[in-house]
Amino acid sequence: MENTNETTAGKATGTKLEARYRVIILGGGIHGVGIAHDLASRGWRDVLVVEKSIIGSGTSSKSTKLIHGGLRYLQHPRDFPLVAEGLEERALLSTLAPDIVKSLPFIFPVMKKGGMPRFMIKIGLWLYDTLSHGRSMGRHVWLSPNEALKEAPILDKSVFKGFYKFFDGQTDDLALVRRVGKSATLLGVTIAERTKANSISHSDDGWHVELRMGEETKIVTAKYVVNALGPWAHEIFKASKIEPKVEGLNNQGTHLMVRDLGLTSGLFLQSPADGRIFFVLPWEGYTLIGTTEDNYTGHPDDCVAQPEQIEYLLNRCNQFLSIKLTQSDIIKTFAGMRWLAKDPNSGLSSTSRTHLLTVHEKGSDLLFTIYGGKLTAYRALAKEVGTAIARAFGDKSKSQTDQPVMWAKADVLPLDLMVPQRFSKI
Ligand SMILES: Cc1cc2nc3c(=O)[nH]c(=O)nc-3n(C[C@H](O)[C@H](O)[C@H](O)COP(=O)(O)OP(=O)(O)OC[C@H]3O[C@@H](n4cnc5c(N)ncnc54)[C@H](O)[C@@H]3O)c2cc1C
Repeated sequence: MENTNETTAGKATGTKLEARYRVIILGGGIHGVGIAHDLASRGWRDVLVVEKSIIGSGTSSKSTKLIHGGLRYLQHPRDFPLVAEGLEERALLSTLAPDIVKSLPFIFPVMKKGGMPRFMIKIGLWLYDTLSHGRSMGRHVWLSPNEALKEAPILDKSVFKGFYKFFDGQTDDLALVRRVGKSATLLGVTIAERTKANSISHSDDGWHVELRMGEETKIVTAKYVVNALGPWAHEIFKASKIEPKVEGLNNQGTHLMVRDLGLTSGLFLQSPADGRIFFVLPWEGYTLIGTTEDNYTGHPDDCVAQPEQIEYLLNRCNQFLSIKLTQSDIIKTFAGMRWLAKDPNSGLSSTSRTHLLTVHEKGSDLLFTIYGGKLTAYRALAKEVGTAIARAFGDKSKSQTDQPVMWAKADVLPLDLMVPQRFSKI
């Protein structure tokens, strides 16, 4: 088994940088490149994204790879708008990047003992279809055991009363980040990979960001800075002696990759022991199992799958399957961190995934910081940040990232970034 959270320090890419930009975006995850794409779609070219490794190498390539409203978030009515937004974005992304965002059938079993009762699942699925406002990827249906076993032959029949089928979106998260990044660069913004932001300071002429590219350091100035560093967001504040506006927390999620278990549908499973939802998914010729949810207090660079998380996932999974998976079935593991604003009144899995934006102001110079967010809804978040920056500059332009013409044409990932080789490198 290989653990796959190596980060790349690496050599500088040689991207030529100006001394000044209108906007500097720190972090080349989906949010960083998404905001660059949003600004570029408004005609802004004077934008720099800096990424210490390669774009998408952080959280944005460690997700469950779902483009979804988040059926499980329907447990909290406060999150209904978040679900509706995700479903709208799912519909849009599947038309803007149809080769990367595709529909996947899911099986949601009703357990004989424990788990959610059938009527509750039915209400949840009805609500999920309804919130998609006619742009669902297919309405839910009740499946006969034979039909369910055809799509998921590894299910243990003796555990279930019956099965619902519903539809959601699946993606290759890294490919999506790279497509958005490419779309942004084709529109004129600069993305500098292997370029680390060390610190931020402010003086009369704007924000100064100290960058390190290999052995070289350089100070670059901008009127607006976006801290889209996700789990690393407060690291740079600490180095810069900037007080964050809110407390952040990292919530670790671990996944296992095993051989193809013959699934043609994803499994949406609820652990009877602790009520947590997890997925078993067909993905790129493998089966993906995840995720865990644990508070993570270590350095973000050191976040790797822990033995107890691996065991947790194997045990939970085996409760539902006719085959029994062991450590030796695991080909790779990977772990990422959900970067959230701390809600003192919530536990980890009930902390809302709604994003939060904070702003440090120095006169008219602004420093934005992002908390929370979802791969699925990155475009909506990017639009909010893009609009805030444009308005602050007196520009009434509109985001155009919903227009196919703003998107790079389909291409394939370089060979060394294909599954599963890429997990050993990024
Ligand atoms: C386990 C897990 C599963 C998830 N599953 C889903 C899902 O199925 N669907 C969904 O919609 N959402 C999912 N999410 C949420 C989604 O993945 C995140 O919201 C999203 O990827 C966050 O992107 P980001 O750009 O904010 O952060 P990141 O992708 O982490 O980007 C931050 C970037 O900053 C870079 N960086 C760090 N320090 C520096 C520095 N000093 N200088 C320059 N660059 C630096 C990092 O290398 C990194 O690339 C999941 C999250 C987790 C953790």
